[in-house]
Amino acid sequence: MPIIKPKGLTLIVGQGIAGSILGWKLQQCGWAIHILEGKKPAPASPVAAGLLTPIMGKRLSLAWEVAHVLPTAKTFYKALKATFDCSLFEERPTQRLFSSLEEKVLAQTKIADPSYQPYLGPLFPPNTWGNDPLGGISILGGGILNMPGLLEVLGAHFNKTQCVEEGVFDFNQLEFSDNTLHYQGQPYERIIFAEGHHVTHNPFFKHLPMHPTQGEILTLQAPIPTDWQSQIFSSGEWLIPQGAITCRIGATYAWTDNPAPTPKARADLLSAFKRFMPDCFMPVLLEQSVGIRLALPDTLPCIGEHPEHPGLFIFNGFASKGGLLVPSMADAFIHALEGTQPLPLAVDVKRYA
Ligand SMILES: Cc1cc2nc3c(=O)[nH]c(=O)nc-3n(C[C@H](O)[C@H](O)[C@H](O)COP(=O)(O)OP(=O)(O)OC[C@H]3O[C@@H](n4cnc5c(N)ncnc54)[C@H](O)[C@@H]3O)c2cc1C
Repeated sequence: MPIIKPKGLTLIVGQGIAGSILGWKLQQCGWAIHILEGKKPAPASPVAAGLLTPIMGKRLSLAWEVAHVLPTAKTFYKALKATFDCSLFEERPTQRLFSSLEEKVLAQTKIADPSYQPYLGPLFPPNTWGNDPLGGISILGGGILNMPGLLEVLGAHFNKTQCVEEGVFDFNQLEFSDNTLHYQGQPYERIIFAEGHHVTHNPFFKHLPMHPTQGEILTLQAPIPTDWQSQIFSSGEWLIPQGAITCRIGATYAWTDNPAPTPKARADLLSAFKRFMPDCFMPVLLEQSVGIRLALPDTLPCIGEHPEHPGLFIFNGFASKGGLLVPSMADAFIHALEGTQPLPLAVDVKRYA
């Protein structure tokens, strides 16, 4: 990425977790920003469960660059607590309940791998957590980010500093003249698109191989045992206790951008709930929420300047890991914008040129 004039007025399109954290960090570095938020359908951030986990998926894979991105994220959210006097992040272990013998054998090999050791507790025996006939393993070092809370706190800050405006970005009002970008007549040094899945309608970044993935989550009322309330459970789906009588269960994956809740997701998630808590016969459905994630084929973020339109940038592609990745990726992006460090090639939009 070329070195460009730092700190000129920057427009950020989208105030999800990506636009919010990037905007906050740019302000902390002395940049002037405007944010335009269009309240478009099915955003990901207000719906997300906010799990930050170092180990994920069936293969118990370590998250990309986990040794850097996980502590960066946790330090950032804890610092926001000090600034805004509200707790947004809670450390919690995840109890992974084995669903097959193969998974148990895989976990045994991971325990022996030094790169996994900071994040794995010992195996626990069958029936430790109720319906776990094969036992499981504790995943350590992660927790839960309150994403809606983060949007609210940073949204209130942007309102107070008069740098956020409600409105949908209109591409017909973008002009390139005298080496400057103008939007609605206002000159900007750069425009950063952080539109989540709506980037699929952005004419400048349409060439990217993007996959909108719809996800649904249920919020249920059910009695939660006391010792469950400080845990996260995972076994294909995850279950997050929220106090003594509520939990969230999710999330589904569907290769569509349908913003409507579906009966199939509801049925699948209620069955998953039954697997976690077979003795609870009548959970009450409080809410079924839908959001759409945006992933690229390598499931890594997509950041940087448009190859043919200097001044237009993208900050997107956080898939299911926005909570984990956005703080460190915002740092990497700002270093690149200020010319102090190039963007890691793995996340640079150039890889899809
Ligand atoms: C069901 C589900 C569960 C998830 N669980 C987790 C989890 O446990 N942990 C985790 O880390 N991540 C999770 N995620 C993923 C996480 O939500 C995303 O990685 C993250 O929220 C992406 O943030 P974003 O800001 O890029 O996009 P979004 O949150 O979608 O925000 C984009 C914003 O841009 C605005 N916008 C779009 N186009 C325009 C326009 N033209 N003009 C103006 N504004 C515009 C939209 O209104 C929106 O507010 C989950 C996602 C889903 C859907």
